[in-house]
Amino acid sequence: MAGNLTIDALKAAVSGGEIDTVLTCIVDMQGRLMGKRFHAQHFLDSAWEETHCCNYLLATDLEMYTVEGYASTSWQSGYGDYVMKPDLSTLRYVPWLEGTAMVLCDVLDHHTHQDVPHSPRAMLKKQIARLAEKGLSPMMATELEFFLFEQSFEEMRKSGYRDLQPISGYNEDYHILQTTKEEDVMRPVRNHLFHAGIPVENTKGEAEAGQEELNIKYSPALNCADFHTISKHAVKEIAWAKGRSASFLAKWDKGRVGSSSHVHQSLWNDDGENVFCDQNGEHGMSATMRSYMAGLIKYAPEYTFFLAPYINSYKRFQKGTFAPTKTVWSVDNRTAGFRLCGEGTKALRVECRIGGSDLNPYLALAVQIAAGLKGLEEKLELAPAASGDIYEASSAGEVPHSLREARHLMNGSAFLREALGDAVVDHYVRAADWEIEEFDRAVTDYEIARGFERA
Ligand code: ADP
Repeated sequence: MAGNLTIDALKAAVSGGEIDTVLTCIVDMQGRLMGKRFHAQHFLDSAWEETHCCNYLLATDLEMYTVEGYASTSWQSGYGDYVMKPDLSTLRYVPWLEGTAMVLCDVLDHHTHQDVPHSPRAMLKKQIARLAEKGLSPMMATELEFFLFEQSFEEMRKSGYRDLQPISGYNEDYHILQTTKEEDVMRPVRNHLFHAGIPVENTKGEAEAGQEELNIKYSPALNCADFHTISKHAVKEIAWAKGRSASFLAKWDKGRVGSSSHVHQSLWNDDGENVFCDQNGEHGMSATMRSYMAGLIKYAPEYTFFLAPYINSYKRFQKGTFAPTKTVWSVDNRTAGFRLCGEGTKALRVECRIGGSDLNPYLALAVQIAAGLKGLEEKLELAPAASGDIYEASSAGEVPHSLREARHLMNGSAFLREALGDAVVDHYVRAADWEIEEFDRAVTDYEIARGFERA
């Protein structure tokens, strides 16, 4: 069970007055929780079975704009409903909110009750099922990096996001002194998430002023994505409750490093063994691991959109910032796109370092499983490991440089079209196009400052 509350335990908690509200949520394209706050009694009386939402929720942008050009929904088709089907295995307490529980929902077609194919949770489930046909389960962990700021979200918005003050005055990578000063926010983050059934490993200071990292224990891929989404949401709510703000923008300042979401992955068999391990293989890697990694690497440029979905995401990929620019692998080397971790142990895994903190974990995990699977199917051979400062490697494949380039590679990807389906790829190409069109219309502070007097 992914959550920590059964429906019977919820009934008891409601009749005992402990719970009065059930957040009933889907995950949108941006990886956000969207839904309704049910009175717990009404949830138990009917909504536990299904409820409904407007189908624009999987065709909108961060602004909730009714973006045109999607085949799945439009003004013309009248923006109908989707079914929100609670996945009761995700029912859990929300300890940071009074009297509240939460459930995640699958998004179903209103008429057929089948999964909506471009729903992020459905996309991940589909790839997990493809791996299961081979007797394999993906065990995954996503790291969550973000910045904490002194000001609240409301203060930030009112000031036009100027003079942003990170919560610390210096690079706090692994610092205990500075992170002690942030325990007002970070201790409740760890403890509340833990009591919500999320296996928090630790938090730590990261390599910038005000930058934090939250690590959650690896778990089956769907749980991993659920944990990531709920944790990101919790960080924002807990920061807000403390009068602070937290940002998962991939890059909020040109002069500072950005925030990542590295994805750790290994494949396990039905006996609970990590099939990436082979004591006799080079670096302890099995043939399965080599082909899976080769697939991850070969198709990385085609799926990068799902790891870096906004214009801003691409500002993070800069030399000397720990964010990769090359799609090669290495052994315990943080300058490459892919890093072999846990060499010589049962925790042998590959870490993909391309994803930004702004990724949607369901999409990121789905496309990586698909790429690894393709590597297995094609029996790809892994190129030798890269070493040294890989930012300077001239022969290595490049991470796409812009959203425009990533969108182009996604659109033309036969691999993605085969794994996800044409309609799903076209849906996300439209999402990428919309981000590009909106940005192309924007007049930025940069342009004004550069050209106002001197142009
Ligand atoms: P680092 O110090 O490089 O950040 P950690 O030891 O903190 O590495 O581990 C990073 C993540 O890798 C953690 O979330 C951990 O649960 C996860 N992890 C450990 N073993 C595996 C595995 N076999 N498969 C997938 N993820 C794993």
